[in-house]
This record gives sequence, structure tokens and C-alpha cells, in this order.
Amino acid sequence: MSTDQVTFKMPETGRPFDDLRSEMVERGGGDVRWREGKTAVYVFNAGEDVTRVQKEAYTLYLSENGLGPAAFPSLKRMEEEVVAMGLHLLHGPRGAVGHMTSGGTDSITMAVKAARDYARSISLPEPFNLVMPYSAHPAFDKAAALMSLEIRRVPVTAVSLADVPGMSEQIDGSTIMLVGSAPSFPYGLIDPMAELSALAIERQVWLHVDACVGGYIAPFVRLNGAPIPDFDFALPGVLSMSADLHKYGYCAKGASTVFYRTEALRDFMVFDQRDWPAGRMVTPTLAGTRPGGAISSAWAVMNYLGVSGYQAKQRQVTEARAAIEAGVEGLGFEVIGAPQLGILAFTRSDLDVFAVYRKLYERGWVTSLCTQPKALHLMLSPFHASVTDQYLSDLAESVEAVEAGATETVTEVRYS
Ligand SMILES: *Cc1c(COP(=O)(O)O)cnc(C)c1O
Repeated sequence: MSTDQVTFKMPETGRPFDDLRSEMVERGGGDVRWREGKTAVYVFNAGEDVTRVQKEAYTLYLSENGLGPAAFPSLKRMEEEVVAMGLHLLHGPRGAVGHMTSGGTDSITMAVKAARDYARSISLPEPFNLVMPYSAHPAFDKAAALMSLEIRRVPVTAVSLADVPGMSEQIDGSTIMLVGSAPSFPYGLIDPMAELSALAIERQVWLHVDACVGGYIAPFVRLNGAPIPDFDFALPGVLSMSADLHKYGYCAKGASTVFYRTEALRDFMVFDQRDWPAGRMVTPTLAGTRPGGAISSAWAVMNYLGVSGYQAKQRQVTEARAAIEAGVEGLGFEVIGAPQLGILAFTRSDLDVFAVYRKLYERGWVTSLCTQPKALHLMLSPFHASVTDQYLSDLAESVEAVEAGATETVTEVRYS
């Protein structure tokens, strides 16, 4: 037997779960203190009542499998209702369809796959390419890498939005998809979707709206009175959308939605294979086995909150954002663009903002950064409404420390 095997191994005998439970809780002690609002990335905290609904609803269907809709008509019906609620919020026209997926990356990958197979069906010349703003999410690059597609990232405008004429220049006969974000993750700004829709129609290119982080907040912020421009299926050029339930939908993780304007377009997403020894296997999304809990939990949270519940939660988010905007402007920062949802980025050209980030990190804050321009980045949850003052005073102290000569900085924030 090899002597240079890995050494960590499974215990010979099991241990009582009570033991394991306390060990797990203890291990979490070193994590970011998200329950105190100390992170504005990764976690969406909509309050203890929502967490309880997520958990209990998840465990009710913990063992069931979304792969088998015939065996679990319960899950099939819940998924259909989740999809229908999402489509209604995003102005899906009659005949529009969708599916639940494991997350935004899954939704985006499947939409790209559908667009690719559609392009093949109309014999567009390969190799194919996708045209998108520099601010679009790396999930598109991942999908493109998986399918050997070319990505053409076009620099954003001076106001950090998709440059529609610039994107137009990059389109050619092998362009299978245009992408706009509602909003983009780095800036939290909604791209000019009406113009992208017009461009998509004029050039007859598939337009995907990445509303992963906006799809379940923008409709409610609009209901709360903000002038959110059309960004969804209300625009005729939009053929597909991605919208994550596990972000501003406040559902348990492992839940997103992908939508198509028509069933015919959706059919390019579905994988159907019968040539193997166990019969026909039809899977709409990337996954085979799909956790029943992600479906039941999403269904429960959406029905628990309802439209008025989401409006109230999203109002907390936008109020927290407004308070932070005012506070950071008071500290000499400039907010990038005019964010309307839950993400904002802010910059100060006379200061190493990454050094400020470092000081905030020392105070327990784990947030994000932008690189172009160098900026601090927050993705806020309802819970943050209760910690804006603390964030702003920690930010003020961090700025002071850097102004006083603190030079320790960070070079990048890695999402790994
Ligand atoms: C989060 C996000 C994604 C990817 O979603 P995951 O669920 O993390 O895979 C895609 N696009 C945008 C704009 C996002 O914010």
C-alpha cells in the first residue's frame, strides 16, 4: 500500500449528533458575524421569521427529489407555482415558461445553452459569440468556457452602464446572445434595457436579461413608488431572463429561476436522452437530482411574504441604501451612478479605498470591492437597516485611519 496517502480519514466509529452539533456551531464561531449584519455579500438576512419558514419548509421536503415530478406531484405543483409567480412579477406574456434551477450560474448556463442550440437550429455560422457589458457576471464566461463560445465584453459607459452602440459594433452573424443586467453586480445599476431590446430586435439577436440579483427586488421597489424603468418581458426583445430566489427572494440557497418568452425557445434548453440502459431521462436544467427542499422552501417563503411582505422587506433595503448613500457622501465619497435597488458602490479618488476596506475588515466587515473604478461595494439586506449607523461610524474611523497614514491595503477580493 502506498505510504504517501492522504492522512485525514473517516472516524472508525460514529459520534453522537449532539456532540457534532456543538462542534459545528463552534466551528462557525470563526465565520463572519453575518447575524450581526457584518457582511453585505453572500448572505441575505430578511429576519428570523423568514429564516424559520425557510428551514421548516425545507425539511418538510428534505428527502424528496425534483427529478421525479411524476413521483412527487407535490413538488411539481410547487415549482409550477413558484415559476408562475416569478413570471407574473416579470411581465411574462401568455405562453412564457420557466424552471427552477440550483442558482444563478445554473440559470445563466441553461439560457446560454438554449440560445446556442437555437442558433444551431437556424444554422448560424460557428464559432458563436456572446456580446455583453464589461459589468456582466462571470457566470456567462463559465457557460461560454463550457460550450467553447467566445465572450465579447464591451467597456461600460462613463456612467457605468452597458454601452449600447459599443455593443452593436461587436455583433456579427455569429452572435447568439446579447446580455444586459438588471442590475449589474459591480455597480447595482440597471442597464438601458429598452435600448438593448430595440437593438436585439433590429439585429435579430437573442437578448437575455440577467436579473439574478434584481428580479425579486425591482418589481417591489417599483410598487413602493420608485421609477424603475422597464427591464423585463415588458420589453419585446427580451427572450430569456435569470432571477435568483436565493438572493432578494429570501429563499433558501439552491434556488433560482430561468424564464423564456415562449415554450419553443425553452425547448432548446431541455436535455432528453434515452440511449442508455435505464430508459428515457429528461432533465430541463443542469442538475439530475434536485433537492425538494429548495423548491418547497421557495414556495413557502413566497407565500409567507406575499406582495405586501416583499414590499415591506424591500423598503427596508432601499431605506438602508439611502441612509448609507447619504452617510458616505458626507464622508466625501461619490456613489457610482444612481442605484435604485439593494447594491451600491462608492469611491473616493483622493484615497486608497482598498486601504479603507482593509480597516473595515479589521472591524469585522466582510463586503465587496469594485476595481473599475476602485470602490467599496455593498449588497444590502433588510437586516442592514438596523446597522447603517454602525457601518457608517466604522467607515468614518477607517477613513480617518487611512488619512492619518495607514497604508496596509488589499489587492483584490476573491470570491473563493
Ligand atoms: C449572483 C449573481 C449571479 C450568479 O448567481 P449564483 O446564484 O451565485 O450562481 C449572476 N448574475 C448576477 C448579476 C448576480 O448578482
